[in-house]
Amino acid sequence: MNDLIYLDNAATSFPKHPDVARAMTDFLTHSAGNPGRGGHELARRASDVVEEARDEIAKLINAPCAARVVLTHGCTDALNLAIHGVIRAAVRHGAPTPIPVVTTALEHNAVLRTLHCYATDNLVALTIVQPDEHGYTHPESIASACTESTRLVCVTHASNAMGTIQPIDEIIRATRRAAPEALVLVDSAQTLGHIPIDVQRSDIDLLSIAGHKGLGGPTGTGALYLSQNAYADHCTQDEARVFCERRGGTGSIAPGLEMPTALPDALEAGTANAVGFAGLLAAMKHHDPSAHDHEMALTQRLLQGLSDIEHVTIYGPTTTENRTPVVLFNISGICARDVATILDKEHNIAVRGGVHCAPLTHESIGNGSDGGVRASPGRATTQSDIDTLLSAIERIAMSATQSRSA
Ligand code: PMP
Repeated sequence: MNDLIYLDNAATSFPKHPDVARAMTDFLTHSAGNPGRGGHELARRASDVVEEARDEIAKLINAPCAARVVLTHGCTDALNLAIHGVIRAAVRHGAPTPIPVVTTALEHNAVLRTLHCYATDNLVALTIVQPDEHGYTHPESIASACTESTRLVCVTHASNAMGTIQPIDEIIRATRRAAPEALVLVDSAQTLGHIPIDVQRSDIDLLSIAGHKGLGGPTGTGALYLSQNAYADHCTQDEARVFCERRGGTGSIAPGLEMPTALPDALEAGTANAVGFAGLLAAMKHHDPSAHDHEMALTQRLLQGLSDIEHVTIYGPTTTENRTPVVLFNISGICARDVATILDKEHNIAVRGGVHCAPLTHESIGNGSDGGVRASPGRATTQSDIDTLLSAIERIAMSATQSRSA
């Protein structure tokens, strides 16, 4: 059988650059003190690594300062920090409940399940905006879902299931007009590392980040960016528009039972995943923005090849415009999970089949119960990998047709 062909980069990127493992081993061997705790050499070295990773993320997204990047244990953690934080702050500020929140059917469960929990307790009045038939959310649909009292708008930058890139600049402008009080949370799990993000130019209030996908770092790393609008300099705990219930040691202001109010410590209780950030830092040093062109050329080949196979349905646009290197498809007569299993067991090809933690996306495109097969090329993918996948799909489609007509 062929060597492993990894086409599940939308779940997590693989392979990681060899320096990622090297930096993590090196960190554990020589620098694994507790970052921010204690002034001794090992603690200082660990702090330096963590702060350097924070700086790199801040530079990449053009944050006004590194302190506005709160390090988290992944993108889900960042989204939870933001959503719980905004709702909890609004309640503390006396906003009448349920608090109006707008989101889209394209969101990942990290957003949907978190908001659903508040909605079932009637603490949030949730409006879910549907995408158009191509998988795009229209800014005007967001604006018409907002009211003057909307406190939070959560939008993904790209659908993790279909790869469609959303017009976030226009969505943010439309939100500002319709809901001046709202904070806009953008989920960049599927885009950062692929396409440039400038939080100041796009006027993003809160940006959730995954370290282990497009940035090439290890799992368990992520970040939340907060703008001045979301968390003002020198605000008190009572004034903050993001209130964090997670409490604990920060290493900085040790005495007292209150959390520090300055970022990032205000939202960063507990020891950071320093070894993970050592790996992420190494990955970011090797980050090559031109790799995205290579991934998109392969995506083009994949879309073209799949369109040529009978009984294959592609969801979302069949061109590479406004999409990430993520392609969702189905073969008629065989369920997506079975296709993924055959690809894994018989062809040594890793894709993901089923419902991709985005149940409402699948409902909106009509494959809610079975989902689809998702193939996501990465920087190490080759043309021949794509061609091998296409021939395997062709064979599976053919045998599904034969067993249907038997
Ligand atoms: N949002 C989106 C759009 C995602 O694709 C993912 C990961 N599948 C997440 C959030 C959650 O990210 P993490 O795995 O880092 O918690």
